Amino acid sequence: MSQAHSPSLATVVAAPKVLLHDHLDGGLRPATVIDLARASGYADLPMADADELGAWFRQGADRKSLERYLEGFRHTVGVMQTPDAIERVAAECAEDLAADGVVYAEVRYAPELSTQGGLSLDEVMTAWLAGFERGAATAEAAGRPITIRAIVTAMRQFARSVEIAELAVRHRDAGVVGFDIAGPEAGFPPSRHLDAFQLIHRADFHVTIHAGEAFGLPSIWEALQWCGAERLGHGVRIVDDIAPGPDGRYVLGRLAAYVRDRRVPLEMCPTSNVHTGAVASIEEHPVDLLRRLRFRVTINTDNRLMSGVTLSSELELLARTFGFGLDEMQWLTLNAMKSSFLSFDQRLRVINGTIKPGYARLMADETASAPTLV
Ligand SMILES: [Zn+2]
Repeated sequence: MSQAHSPSLATVVAAPKVLLHDHLDGGLRPATVIDLARASGYADLPMADADELGAWFRQGADRKSLERYLEGFRHTVGVMQTPDAIERVAAECAEDLAADGVVYAEVRYAPELSTQGGLSLDEVMTAWLAGFERGAATAEAAGRPITIRAIVTAMRQFARSVEIAELAVRHRDAGVVGFDIAGPEAGFPPSRHLDAFQLIHRADFHVTIHAGEAFGLPSIWEALQWCGAERLGHGVRIVDDIAPGPDGRYVLGRLAAYVRDRRVPLEMCPTSNVHTGAVASIEEHPVDLLRRLRFRVTINTDNRLMSGVTLSSELELLARTFGFGLDEMQWLTLNAMKSSFLSFDQRLRVINGTIKPGYARLMADETASAPTLV
């Protein structure tokens, strides 16, 4: 690996990418927040200029101010209370991801957050999924096809997870591929929601759980061994179970070994982890160590608006910081596609039809343009 070979942002954008962990309410366009606030009479926005508002959202994250970070979600969720608003946000999400070169995405949202204006959970789902369909059609027409699916999230501090799990299963044939819980980890262990997870398992459906972001190993252990999580949202704290041995080689504790042995996908969101204080800096992020130890690492955005990132900018940052080249990017992308909740035959189609040929082309271009030593 050499920093000289780190791909440019343009190359990263051109590369086919897969996104497994992105929040619908964390990725609105600032101009859309303003439009929707105006249309619905939402008067709480701190400012009415799109650029300033975008900067305001990012500042909350940059200052590691959890209060400001959460206030950001109050506004995005505040304007997502009508079917039209939800559909527009979902359509623009699909378009923005496609424009960034994402070929497959799973985007999550907690529909219970959009019921403040009287919508039912099913009405929220219908609008959300209609938006994905419309956005994917627009992207396809623009020559950037994307397959986009929904993960339905229940908030771990509330008590509606069984109802939300039923909702996810009810809409599985319309574009929902899994169930998740999110919200504060400390004090709200995933085992509070066992009934919801069992319902999902009995329906032969899929589960990913936010675990090991702010809170440590017990949260990861519960998510896997009590709740049957197939993937871990973040999972960064798994490094607490890895230590260098006397000979300098890393030794894995039982839980870390289980995660690696079982190929449990880690939905890592490096910039978001720095912003929420889960990790001190990008340089200190365990993503590279976990990659070198061959954990099933995937790279994700979490909240594109609040963190001011795209999947391409995130990969380019890792390329610059850790010297990742196209090889590492392809590995991370294949990891993500293998770990998606799409059916096996569909996953293979994306891998063999889109990802591998896309990287092969980029690698051939790179070789052709590299200076040759005679
Ligand atoms: Zn998240």
